[in-house]
Amino acid sequence: MTGGEANNYFKTIQHIAPSRYYATLNCALQEVFCVSGIQGMLPESPNTYFGKVAHRLLETASNGQTSEDQLEQIWESILKSEERSLQETGFAKHLVPLKNNVRLYEVKKRLVFKTAVTLISRKGHHVSPVQSRSEFNLSSSNGLINGVVDRLTYSSNGCEIIDYKTGEVIDKVTSKVKQSYQYQMKLYASSYYTKFGEWPISLRIQTLSGLSHEIRYTPQECIQLLKQAEYLIERINRTITTSQNTNEIEEQLGNPSPANCVNCTYRHQCKPYWNRRAISRRDDWPNDVQGMYIDVQHLGNNKGLLKLLWKGSMIKIRGLDLERHNISAGSLICAYGLLRDDVAHSYSEGLLTTIYS
Ligand code: SF4
Repeated sequence: MTGGEANNYFKTIQHIAPSRYYATLNCALQEVFCVSGIQGMLPESPNTYFGKVAHRLLETASNGQTSEDQLEQIWESILKSEERSLQETGFAKHLVPLKNNVRLYEVKKRLVFKTAVTLISRKGHHVSPVQSRSEFNLSSSNGLINGVVDRLTYSSNGCEIIDYKTGEVIDKVTSKVKQSYQYQMKLYASSYYTKFGEWPISLRIQTLSGLSHEIRYTPQECIQLLKQAEYLIERINRTITTSQNTNEIEEQLGNPSPANCVNCTYRHQCKPYWNRRAISRRDDWPNDVQGMYIDVQHLGNNKGLLKLLWKGSMIKIRGLDLERHNISAGSLICAYGLLRDDVAHSYSEGLLTTIYS
């Protein structure tokens, strides 16, 4: 029996979007979970869901599919659809309505609308389709890198590639544009070159607050990056097809670390994550715990205190919304996204706290 025959769980990667390359480079397993159709079981930050709604509104605006006075109606329709999906997940339904959980929701929404109005008015002025293109698909020659660019604009000097970002763009440590966004834009540049035989004159990230960040690049580094990305996909796929079983694939492709795992929605399904943190001395892993159920104390207002036993220590989780969580007595409990108290082994519920029995 070959390794490929032994694995019916993980699928090989057909292509990676430039926006996913950096995360895949850091931990290939999360991309493999994703392309294999396995759903992450933990909620993302409400800002991420807000960003998806904002991005779809901007897409509609830049495609010329709306007018300024229809924006509110379209926003509501996209928002409702996103909120319906959240409710269906179960684990993220408490984040609905998003406007109650996204900080500065109204301010951010106004900024999205402002950007959308600019896009609509630009669209009106660009009568020729070659002057501006939205949602343009770019792919490397073998198709392994494939993604949709928010906007291409043309002048007599050449083409500019623009991507809109609703979240933080600058890395707090380096004070530069985040590495993930730099890689994304440079992969767009090399894919653009593959398709048209010329390099874009600039790569630009635009934020909702109106800031514009230019990503400087050289053709050589973009070509090098494209080769590295393609090689990464080939390496991941080789691992999937030659490994003996799913455990081996997870161990080979998972790269658990506090930074890689903190926002990963697959922590609940990920064996390498729990294995690595069990032997790690670091104390900055995500605030996730597991333990055998001891009891739940009801404290009024549907709040509770859950006690667990793990390796001889009692773990306490206070402030739990007992209507939100399904806690089975007598079982092994895994709790994710907790807030850590000052006292050892003591936690409380946060917005992203999720419990599985
Ligand atoms: S939990 Fe960590 S190791 Fe597992 S898939 Fe996510 S990022 Fe990778």
